[in-house]
Amino acid sequence: MRCEVEPNRCSVPRTIGVLEAEAAGPTLIVIGGVHGNEPTGVRAAEKVISRLNSNGQIARGRCVALTGHRRALADPDGHTRYLEEDLNRLFTPERVKEALRCNRQSLSPDMIELAEIVACLEAEAERARGPMYLIDIHTFSSRGTPFAATEDAIRARRFCRGFGLPMVLGFEEELHGLLSDYFTNRFGGVSVVVEAGRHGEQAAERIAEATLMRALELTGLIEPGIEALEVLKKAAGARAGRIYDVRYRHVIKNPDFKMLDRVHSFARVHVGEHVADEGGCAQRTPESGLMFMPNRQKHKRPGDDGYFIVRRVGGVWLALSAWLRDRAWIHRALPRFLPGVRRRGASGHELLVSPQIAAVMKRDLFHLLGYRLVRHDGELHLNRARRLAVGMQAIVRSVGLMLAGLVAGGERRILAEESPQDWIVRRHHLDVLDEQDS
Ligand SMILES: [Zn+2]
Repeated sequence: MRCEVEPNRCSVPRTIGVLEAEAAGPTLIVIGGVHGNEPTGVRAAEKVISRLNSNGQIARGRCVALTGHRRALADPDGHTRYLEEDLNRLFTPERVKEALRCNRQSLSPDMIELAEIVACLEAEAERARGPMYLIDIHTFSSRGTPFAATEDAIRARRFCRGFGLPMVLGFEEELHGLLSDYFTNRFGGVSVVVEAGRHGEQAAERIAEATLMRALELTGLIEPGIEALEVLKKAAGARAGRIYDVRYRHVIKNPDFKMLDRVHSFARVHVGEHVADEGGCAQRTPESGLMFMPNRQKHKRPGDDGYFIVRRVGGVWLALSAWLRDRAWIHRALPRFLPGVRRRGASGHELLVSPQIAAVMKRDLFHLLGYRLVRHDGELHLNRARRLAVGMQAIVRSVGLMLAGLVAGGERRILAEESPQDWIVRRHHLDVLDEQDS
């Protein structure tokens, strides 16, 4: 599908509006419509900006509201999510470099959007007179509770909690090239994705508006109130403030993918449960947990998200995790004393984990210690007995390697530098930045 709209004649403007105070302060970037079939965030931003413009503006800092996929938003069809590639999967360092380097004429319409958005963000970073924040507003296709998603760094968690919505961590491990992830890693700012509700519903627009007001309060650009938070908490109902971790993503292989009608967001599902039909077969989930964002979009393409499985994370676990990741000695000890785990690169923030070890420890341990999975081959879904067997094997092998390593001068010496099967785990960028600042 080619873009019908000439790059420079798109009817949707890039900037929705700007609010700026004389007093220096944080920069809040709001973006809506990164998916063209989700204009809710754009409409909410228009309303909030015009209301504040006629209402004495903001106390400090700067707020810029941008549109996401202008060309897809401009399509009267209303169902155009992207043109050739999902814009919200293009924000990888490689694709960004390509978008900025190449001649516009040779870029696909989605890549032109990427180049334009990156240019806006760079310009904002250039003029920023304080910390930067990004709020990326989306909507989803099935019924469900609105939620906020962020990276599991301490600063991001704290900020995200302020919205009173259910908080979902770990999307960036399953999805590569997210705008939010790019923003955090490029500019060292907190980014929050808010899924405000179902496409096109009035309720979703109210949630999106409340989200923007709350973001302005949390960043200190306006004085805090209670109204926005109340709207968000009410929409979240019993799930207000709960925290979930993404455990699995089903990737659509066949465009005939169809979720079963009885499967709803946050419904409990068990391993092997029939949750969707795809390519004439029953699609069974490989993970137990809570069904999340089942895809009921009108148009589905291979590579799109079918559904996610999430699990609830307890407050004690999160507090323990915050405490543990703050201990510098833990990060030093991991590659030294954990068999099959070794440093990757010179920074000391990235580790290689041999796949047998990863199968036993699974992602929980790394999450607990403040690492995100950068490369993993999905969870190995082993039953308890099999995991024990693999674990014993791995431990015996690793102890052997350690002993051999003592003779040869270190485990690193005898383990291959990096194999494509190795997991790569990395400390959260914001945690590292905050540690360096303290
Ligand atoms: Zn979206």
